[in-house]
Amino acid sequence: MSTPVVAQDGESGVPAGRPIVIAVPRELVPGELRVAMVPEVVRNLTKSGYVVRIEHDAGAGAFYPDDLFTAAGATIASGRPGLLDGARIVLRVQPPTVAEVDQLAEGTIVIGFMNASNNLEAIARMRDRNITAFALELVPRITRAQGMDALSSQATAAGYTAAILGADNCPKFLPMLTTAAGTIRPATVLILGAGVAGLMAIATAKRLGAIVEAYDVRRAAGEQVRSLGAKFLELEINAEGAGGYARELTPEEKAQEQQMVSAAVARADIVITTAAIPGRRAPLLITRETVATMRPGAVIVDLAAESGGNCELTEAGRTINKHGVTIIGPQNLPARVPFHSSQMYAKNLQSFLTLLVDKDGAIVKEFTDEILVASLLVHAGTVRHAPTRDLMSGGRP
Ligand code: NAD
Repeated sequence: MSTPVVAQDGESGVPAGRPIVIAVPRELVPGELRVAMVPEVVRNLTKSGYVVRIEHDAGAGAFYPDDLFTAAGATIASGRPGLLDGARIVLRVQPPTVAEVDQLAEGTIVIGFMNASNNLEAIARMRDRNITAFALELVPRITRAQGMDALSSQATAAGYTAAILGADNCPKFLPMLTTAAGTIRPATVLILGAGVAGLMAIATAKRLGAIVEAYDVRRAAGEQVRSLGAKFLELEINAEGAGGYARELTPEEKAQEQQMVSAAVARADIVITTAAIPGRRAPLLITRETVATMRPGAVIVDLAAESGGNCELTEAGRTINKHGVTIIGPQNLPARVPFHSSQMYAKNLQSFLTLLVDKDGAIVKEFTDEILVASLLVHAGTVRHAPTRDLMSGGRP
């Protein structure tokens, strides 16, 4: 690839022909230890002609100290003005706040998770300040986009961490043990929802030696579950909807599902729930009555805690104990393995950047690629994502 340059003269106050400056701020959300760049990706981007600037200590929480970034070819900026001066592209994990949007020059391109429905004020500010924002969670789940699928990479981290959290809070060994002090029966781990996070939780629990059962409303998930050596709980329902996501179940289907799931929950030592329906509250799979039937010492790790919880008793961000059952409602699980979450996320961004730059190394003038079209949230003073536009006050485009 030739050296990437800004596409339009003066669009962000940077004359065309100069290398594109990529800025990576330190994440400010409490508990966010990830960073949108890692030294390995800095090396690749600088080789391609970009200038990469990292805010001082941006990688500290993920154990990428400044000197590793410097050695890879980045420059370290001590504060935001120096970081953002002349920057054409800003790479982030969490969405920018209104105050952070105000620090950006007009025409800056921001790429990261945007969580638009919870950040309408910042989206409106980006619209009004002529910022371009790409939301990684809107990248379509198509084969060509796999390398930039940050939802999947971070769900992989969440699923792994959920299994480890479950094991850590369980009063039992997970594997079967034959010892001089007797034989230990393996623990039973149940995974509800076998998408990306669920499959990773299954694989991790299997590696720890547990007996693993799993359930998903999508029948296609059964094959993947079985290929990991776990038992798939079958129910005569196929709720695969458009695009491979789940559709909502009918009331009768819900009752059947509830019965089967409840029986499996009652016999499990650890239950990891990951069930989600895009854009809706997480489905309720474990009622308070079901929790009361569980074994003392059992553990629930509810990955859907932030979207309402798959368990009725879950409290987001807290670990509670009800009826002798530990119920964990974790928030931002990928931030618990920030080294590798950041590594995967930065690679996702590196892949995404290839769509933004044309064969001459300039930022493409028209965002016509279907992945760019789908993930473009705000551009040229307009909110491009229709559901977000509908949510915004006044319905102004
Ligand atoms: P998700 O986070 O949206 O949901 C997690 C899981 O919960 C899903 O498997 C869903 O079927 C399940 N679920 C929903 N309601 C349920 C209920 N009542 N009971 C039990 N389970 C329930 O899912 P995800 O991990 O983002 O994956 C969504 C889909 O996208 C899957 O089909 C996945 O295979 C597919 N995908 C495709 C690609 C690709 O081709 N590039 C990449 C990633 C994911």
